[in-house]
Amino acid sequence: MGSENLEEVISKLMRGEVSLSKLDEVLGNKNLAVVARRVFLERKLGIKLSAIASTILDFEQIVGRNIENPIGAVQVPIGIAGPLLIHGEYARGEYYIPLATTEGALVASINRGCKAVTLSGGVRTRIIRDGMTRAPVFRVRNIDEALELVKWVNEHFEEIKKVAESTTRHGKLVRIEPYIMGNNVWLRFEYTTGDAMGMNMVTIATDKACEYIEKNFPGEAYLVSLSGNMCTDKKPAYINMLLGRGKTVVAEAVIKRDVALKVLKTLPEYIHEVNLRKNWAGSVRAGSLSINAHFANIIAAIFIATGQDIAQVVESSMGFVWTEVRDGDLYFSVTLTSLEVGTVGGGTRLPTQQEALKILGVAGPGDPPGTNAKKFAEIVTAAVLAGELNLLAALSARELARAHERLGRGRSG
Ligand code: NAP
Repeated sequence: MGSENLEEVISKLMRGEVSLSKLDEVLGNKNLAVVARRVFLERKLGIKLSAIASTILDFEQIVGRNIENPIGAVQVPIGIAGPLLIHGEYARGEYYIPLATTEGALVASINRGCKAVTLSGGVRTRIIRDGMTRAPVFRVRNIDEALELVKWVNEHFEEIKKVAESTTRHGKLVRIEPYIMGNNVWLRFEYTTGDAMGMNMVTIATDKACEYIEKNFPGEAYLVSLSGNMCTDKKPAYINMLLGRGKTVVAEAVIKRDVALKVLKTLPEYIHEVNLRKNWAGSVRAGSLSINAHFANIIAAIFIATGQDIAQVVESSMGFVWTEVRDGDLYFSVTLTSLEVGTVGGGTRLPTQQEALKILGVAGPGDPPGTNAKKFAEIVTAAVLAGELNLLAALSARELARAHERLGRGRSG
């Protein structure tokens, strides 16, 4: 389509004769539609959007999958921390961690944590639970029918599993956990999802399973909502802390006393005290759902770099820090209760995000399926440990404000 038609379409947009969402169709070219939307906005608002226009993205590939009504892209700087030595079940060796952020001092902070961990012999990681959840809510008539529904679902688990799994090659239904309140019944479906974070996969599978339940349950069970908020997606919730969502991962390291002194400029006892009084006492006093200083910082930076669902930073960054002083060294562990990550699907297929996953050696499907996502989860948790360790160390040495002054306000030169 020529520029005349583009001009014509933009004029129609200005006159309100065509809607922004119809442009892909009207112009027959998704990249041209991006230009039309952007020029329309520029003219309407009297501003220039040349920075947003500057992108390598091919919108033919991503409209309808990752975005609607695009006008360009946002660029976020990406830095690297490491090497970080990891002794996981899936991640073994030294890794460089890609971190996309605009918070000055964050990459430097994680980088110093990586150094302290690696010099101390590395970090051990283990996945202790794995399962993505979707929890539809059903309305029944009364408590007897609620109990009947739960009993029926238990008795027909194998059939429901077969129906759910008919929608996917990689999604496997592991369990259905029932919850009752009055005449409401939640069925919390939990699946393993291979290398995908799995949210679309399990939603589609659960939809099919619910159809089967509504049709075949002899009583009256009405599906009120495919998501009944006990999943729980993109909200902080105790259920994810207790039962997990995505991957529950533990990382632990023993930081040597001389490394703490030389690299972190502090002592194990001081870091331990900050963890007890700040993370534990402070979080309890504040009524916080999590016991940590800044898991979200590391999770968000890795999520942005690698194409994860950013809103899932909410539950992915929930978790605990546990410390002990052992023979003068520092035992330091982090537990992430609900880390939702994937190496296929969602934003992982975009070109810059793919490259960031390649830095970690986890782009695309694993062999066997699921191993790339597990390796990635271990790396993320190890990086969280490094970042958390460094912040607690900096606080114990009273360095925090100085580092932000130097690195966050452009005064390093
Ligand atoms: P997806 O891209 O929807 O699904 C993953 C796809 O990859 C499936 O088609 C799967 O096929 C295929 N696949 C190929 N190799 C695989 C492997 N080794 N392991 C696993 N799958 C493999 O991704 P998703 O993770 O299910 O969903 C992520 C998206 O959901 C994100 O964009 C996120 O923002 C969005 N999201 C959706 C909801 C919702 O309620 N729907 C909620 C939150 C977020 P098979 O299925 O045949 O195995």
